[in-house]
Amino acid sequence: MKVNMAADPEHVRKQNRSLILEQLNCDIPLSRVEISKKLALSKMTVSVIVADLIREGLVDEVGEGEAARSGGRKPILLTLGSSKFVLGIDIGQTNTVIAMANLKGEKQYERKVPTSRNKEVGQIVRQIAELVRESLAKSGVKSENLFCVGISTAGLVESDRGYIHFSPDFNWKDVPLKSLMEEAIGFPVVVDNCTRALALGEIRYGGAKDAENLFFVNVGHGIGSALMINGTIYGKNSEFGHIRATSKAIVCDCGKEGCLEAVSSGHAIERRAAELYPEESGWMTAEEVAALARKGDDRALELFGDAGRYLGRAIAIAVNLFNPDKVIIGGGVSMAGCLILDPLMEAFQQDAMEVIKDSTTVELTRLGTESGVRGAIALALNSLLFSHSTG
Ligand SMILES: [Zn+2]
Repeated sequence: MKVNMAADPEHVRKQNRSLILEQLNCDIPLSRVEISKKLALSKMTVSVIVADLIREGLVDEVGEGEAARSGGRKPILLTLGSSKFVLGIDIGQTNTVIAMANLKGEKQYERKVPTSRNKEVGQIVRQIAELVRESLAKSGVKSENLFCVGISTAGLVESDRGYIHFSPDFNWKDVPLKSLMEEAIGFPVVVDNCTRALALGEIRYGGAKDAENLFFVNVGHGIGSALMINGTIYGKNSEFGHIRATSKAIVCDCGKEGCLEAVSSGHAIERRAAELYPEESGWMTAEEVAALARKGDDRALELFGDAGRYLGRAIAIAVNLFNPDKVIIGGGVSMAGCLILDPLMEAFQQDAMEVIKDSTTVELTRLGTESGVRGAIALALNSLLFSHSTG
């Protein structure tokens, strides 16, 4: 049975609370009156909620603004609380990055370490717990001022429960990571798939700040995707990497043939390089292939050209279907810049429908190597501050 959420006062209160925090999530301090005008809420509603937020340390009073022209008292200005923090942790196959950030997402401390080579769940949980302790000690943040921890990792993640159904990177099956981590560190933990976290990072800090509808493509070792629809991250898996991109019988990691991931991912680029450069003794990384392409090497240029065109064609299909304002391409392969973007755009322009492509911007992430940990910070802040907008 569906509950009429609009009639539920607790839901309305939570939504108003998130809306007020969203208003304060900018560089300019605001007064209670300004907030109530912007949100069309009564002054009383705003005052009651703000009093709670101040008590919880989520909002600070920071001095006085200008008095109204008609005179009267100077209004007290508000910002997001400066003494409370979240931790963002991006667990990658190779490296783990941890960062302490304040409620505005400004980083106070950051550390990157190699992910434990023993990928057994208990070992990773112990490594993360140790990193959390170290971050608290080195940043000087008291544990009572740390609100929550956001963890982003690859695999099939059920974000509500922080439950990992399957992680090919770590060979994990049915891992209740949220509860294991909460038990180990004693702070609330939120876990989500790394591609959805990267998309959140774009929405909070990157190129999707003003977007309502976003299609985010993570082109790394594999290819993942995430959607934001009307300002809300779509909570279900979006497996853009496994749509059929070619009739060639190239086997994908998922077991099927001709997937986009099998022709455009970092792994696909490396596998193709191994065929195109038989004289090379070792396995070339996608980065090394990109370096060759920048020097004008024909085979490397052709390789990125093919990968980009497949991506562009597939993105055109997604854009025709979903018509987002923005498409952002992130992940390691996006670091190849115009090597991947130029052929991608050419194929996209060719295939996407006129009216639709004119209203969609396609671009590479601007967050660079920051994007992973930014996503994990956004995950923590979203669960804490803006819970209504994560769906
Ligand atoms: Zn596949």
